[in-house]
Amino acid sequence: MEVKKIGVIGAGTMGNGIAQTFATYGYEVVMIDVDQKFLDNAMATIKKSLAKMVEKAKMTQENADAAIARIKTGTDISLAQDCQLVVEAVVEKLDVKKDVFKKLCMQSPQETILASNTSTISITEIASATRRADRVIGMHFMNPVPLMQLVEVVKGLATSDETTNMIVELSKKIGKTPVVVNDSPGFVSNRILLPMINEAIYVLQEGIADKEAIDTVMKLGMNHPMGPLALADLIGLDICLDILNVLYRDLGDPKYRPCPLLKRMVSAGYLGRKTKKGFYTY
Ligand code: NAD
Repeated sequence: MEVKKIGVIGAGTMGNGIAQTFATYGYEVVMIDVDQKFLDNAMATIKKSLAKMVEKAKMTQENADAAIARIKTGTDISLAQDCQLVVEAVVEKLDVKKDVFKKLCMQSPQETILASNTSTISITEIASATRRADRVIGMHFMNPVPLMQLVEVVKGLATSDETTNMIVELSKKIGKTPVVVNDSPGFVSNRILLPMINEAIYVLQEGIADKEAIDTVMKLGMNHPMGPLALADLIGLDICLDILNVLYRDLGDPKYRPCPLLKRMVSAGYLGRKTKKGFYTY
């Protein structure tokens, strides 16, 4: 099956980056969200990002305009029914994802591949909402999608080799490096990353150092390109909390307990860059 048209469900931080990347590489994209205002914001973000690439001579104006023209938007999930691949990037909640996958399965041809960009939720569990578990897979992009090299390809228990190979090849076609891993909470990336971010928040909460000091130690001492607190702001503190809750619940180990300061910040609506306030102010 040749992939020509790709549906992206959810137009937030990740969804708009995924839509932009596929469109840049010549795929027709339909991006779907629950409210047109999220789609308008997403298109504005995509236009800004492409304009920056043109400015830096990484892309021609003509190619940027063509990429934008390839992205259609809408609030009705049935707009994705003629796609050969749908990538879901809605909020990190199992019930919401299951509902989306159930609808996608009912409306799409049996051969359509349904992928999730989930950070940590079980692909096997998401697949249980469908009648095509062999064609459900994790396609875990990193943030910011247009710039980050990795796609963590997550095989659920029933994901077929055919589906996996197809997603591996597609990832290469859009300039990414795919790495195949098995389904387990947090996969490889967030199983390792989130405990580090959580520990940095505990260090801040305990007054061991201020935020700048914590981030500087990790940047200059460990050669990380950004500190863990700045990275948490980039990911979104609500997303970080959701991931830790899944690790804590599904692995049953107290070492994954989300830091109380993180919970308080999410309750206060300090979600990081997307709300212009997290550990830092934007
Ligand atoms: P976000 O909050 O920025 O965006 C989520 C979007 O989904 C919102 O625009 C929301 O309106 C929309 N949405 C919610 N329910 C919907 C539905 N039923 N149908 C259509 N749209 C719906 O979140 P995000 O940071 O883009 O994360 C999306 C997914 O990607 C999550 O599963 C997250 O774990 C994962 N992820 C996030 C990052 C990151 O750094 N933020 C990295 C990798 C993976």
